[in-house]
Amino acid sequence: MGVYVDVDYYQIDELLTEEELDLRNRVRRFVDDECLPVIGSYFEKATFPSKLVSRLAELHLFGAHIDGYGGHRMSHMNYGLVCQELGRCDSGLRALFSVQNSLVMYPIYAFGSQEQREHWLPKMSQGDVIGCFALSEPEFGSNPAGMATTAEKHADGYSLNGTKMWISNGTIAKVAIVWAKLEGEIRGFLVEARTAGFRATAIQRKFAYRTSPTAALTLKNCRVPEGNLLPRAVGLRSILECINLARYGVACGAVGSAMACYQVAAAFARKREVFDKSIASYQLVQDRLVRMMMEITKAQLLNYHLGRRMDDVKASHAQISMAKLNNVREAMTIARMARDILGARGILADHHVIRHLCDLEAVSTLEGTENIHTLILGKDLTGVSAFW
Ligand SMILES: Cc1cc2nc3c(=O)[nH]c(=O)nc-3n(C[C@H](O)[C@H](O)[C@H](O)COP(=O)(O)OP(=O)(O)OC[C@H]3O[C@@H](n4cnc5c(N)ncnc54)[C@H](O)[C@@H]3O)c2cc1C
Repeated sequence: MGVYVDVDYYQIDELLTEEELDLRNRVRRFVDDECLPVIGSYFEKATFPSKLVSRLAELHLFGAHIDGYGGHRMSHMNYGLVCQELGRCDSGLRALFSVQNSLVMYPIYAFGSQEQREHWLPKMSQGDVIGCFALSEPEFGSNPAGMATTAEKHADGYSLNGTKMWISNGTIAKVAIVWAKLEGEIRGFLVEARTAGFRATAIQRKFAYRTSPTAALTLKNCRVPEGNLLPRAVGLRSILECINLARYGVACGAVGSAMACYQVAAAFARKREVFDKSIASYQLVQDRLVRMMMEITKAQLLNYHLGRRMDDVKASHAQISMAKLNNVREAMTIARMARDILGARGILADHHVIRHLCDLEAVSTLEGTENIHTLILGKDLTGVSAFW
């Protein structure tokens, strides 16, 4: 019986250039051969797959948005394809790639001084230094403009005070980009993890994003030299520049997770016999598989067009919001349908679906919740803000 188990129903591959296909296939092989066989164990133990960092560097996946400094700038299209493939394996692994590239290396490159670029970017390109992006706080997540973390100017630098929460890579990062208010204005600071007054505490007992080390950061009279202020990182506008890149990565990674769930469910449906027949032969199961493939295909097309628009510098932040909102929401529905098709086995780690489902719960909150993206789109469509 021919159950369709590929996940490119509209042959979107035909729209990709040879160079894009080549990169996608290289990352796909890396994921299939080196990541998928081990990721379940890291997830179960809630440990960071540190061995994969050097492999990501060897594949030239760090420095995706930068020229020079050891980086390997890639198009947005390629960035999205890499996110999709890594997301097919694990959202935490995708986060390692997108945080390092979009939220740490990009702001250092775009807003940093020459010294800051030269000091940090080559080491980050090689994977020797992992960074983190510290924006959210215990009381300010969806509304970062309200942040309570402050920076105070001294003769020789700044002292930072505050708490940051839910920071991906927080416990493994050698440097954090900390966003704080300096005389009421949001600015970005490079804070080395070894700085006195800086502490990263792992957030334990997470049921999602288990391969990604999430931390609370405390800054207590944490003094950084003058040269650690990112000179051109000013206000929410700079933050949004980084976050838009990361949101696109999330939109693509979620499709990867959905593709993985579909593949497992479709293969299982073909093999599993109930009432003496393969469950793939039942109309209700077919309905689910069709709905899964239809939403995956629509999301793939959304990502494809968005990637091209971003490369042409034409994509709006609201268009990025639509992809994040739609793709994560649909990926969650697809993961749930896949879990259902697997019956009881769907809750076992062996099939990976439950892992994706748990991760997607976190993915729906980070980089802006469903509500926040709906409000962004609502404002874009009506011209009226409904945020408060
Ligand atoms: C695994 C993980 C990794 C993360 N990594 C990072 C990171 O690396 N760096 C970083 O800075 N942050 C990170 N975050 C934080 C993430 O960005 C925030 O969790 C997110 O912005 C939501 O903030 P919150 O959790 O405080 O929820 P809240 O802002 O408290 O929202 C709670 C609920 O209220 C709703 N809500 C809020 N305002 C409105 C409104 N105006 N109208 C309607 N509904 C509203 C939200 O949609 C949500 O449903 C991470 C989070 C997770 C879970």
